[in-house]
Amino acid sequence: MTSGVALGSRAVAGRKVTARKAIASKPRASVAVRASGDRKWNFSAGPAVLPLDVLEDAKEDLINYKGTGMSVMEMSHRGKDFMKIAEEAEADLRELIGIPANYKVLFLQGGASSQFSAIPMNLAPEGGVADFILTGAWGKKAYEEAGKYMTTNLAASSKDSNFSTIPDVSDWKLTKDAKFVHICSNETIGGVEFKEVPDTGDVPLVADMSSNYLSKPIDVEKYGIIYGGVQKNIGPAGMAIVIVREDLIGKTHPLCPTMFDYKLMADNDSMYNTPPCWTMYTSGLVFKKLIKMGGLEAVEKMNEEKAKILYDAIDGSDGYYNNPVDKKYRSLMNVPFTLGGGEDLEKKFLKEAAAAGFESLKGHRSVGGARASIYNAMPKEGVQALVDFMADFKAAN
Ligand SMILES: *Cc1c(COP(=O)(O)O)cnc(C)c1O
Repeated sequence: MTSGVALGSRAVAGRKVTARKAIASKPRASVAVRASGDRKWNFSAGPAVLPLDVLEDAKEDLINYKGTGMSVMEMSHRGKDFMKIAEEAEADLRELIGIPANYKVLFLQGGASSQFSAIPMNLAPEGGVADFILTGAWGKKAYEEAGKYMTTNLAASSKDSNFSTIPDVSDWKLTKDAKFVHICSNETIGGVEFKEVPDTGDVPLVADMSSNYLSKPIDVEKYGIIYGGVQKNIGPAGMAIVIVREDLIGKTHPLCPTMFDYKLMADNDSMYNTPPCWTMYTSGLVFKKLIKMGGLEAVEKMNEEKAKILYDAIDGSDGYYNNPVDKKYRSLMNVPFTLGGGEDLEKKFLKEAAAAGFESLKGHRSVGGARASIYNAMPKEGVQALVDFMADFKAAN
């Protein structure tokens, strides 16, 4: 790889380089491969596709960040360059979502799964009851983890329908003085998404938004805590973003690890210890991009258009392809589907799709079938290419 060496040494000298040559020398796989380089159409549920222009910006800065002589990965998190990156990331996220001043924004390591335990330790230092609404696999995990720290009440569940819908709010059996009510706003595996924010009165609503974070406007004031890992719809893996109402924090369970203490993390601007610097930086680039695109209303409109293309193709296939989810609650982000022709045909479909350059269409191992995750960064052309492939496959099989 002589060209690779040359690229490296030229970049160290501070000159702008591109990797076009290296990319052009690789074999071209199929029609599904994007024209601009050998990028596949990536339908992975997470880590997932990132915007190409963000990756290119990051590449530009990778070795020498804005003349600092080093990469963001190499600089002190307490130095002025990184402090600026961190401050801008928070300010841009606040602007993008419209986060009120009485909410803290935390950038934390440990992904969404760590929050399953951090939330009860911060909101219920003396125990108590939390209500959980189960609409799929992730909500179940949150429910089980919280049960280690407090009493958990299954207030509603769509298990009877194989998690293909969301139980009607009027049927929820909520606890009067619960510490919080937990929902998973988009179930990544089942493809079920809340379309309205449930009203839980004075009891703080806590939402896991891992797989639909920043996919549409968020009415922050209706929540006590919003949280999610960033590796689905925002940036590279390694971080959760927690948005928490100020009055809910300040007391923690006596055994709460320091690193899980929201108040301490808020007081230290998420820098009590070394933060996930690279993930914060890249996520920050995504925030800027979304602001430039016109904000979350524009993002939602784009996502609705993309999802419609795919759902219309499934619904219009006379049962060749099927999506099992209640139409009212179909996810704009994760679209699971099966083939009416059965498992062998499904295998053939997945094999041929992979060969044609469609990445990670296999459904989650717990449910089988196929699943297309069409997060913010999946372009409309990618969805169109998939739909065209599905039509061709149907015609040939
Ligand atoms: C992926 C996912 C998680 C787990 O995220 P980690 O960051 O890997 O812990 C939790 N909830 C939902 C809804 C997810 O999609």
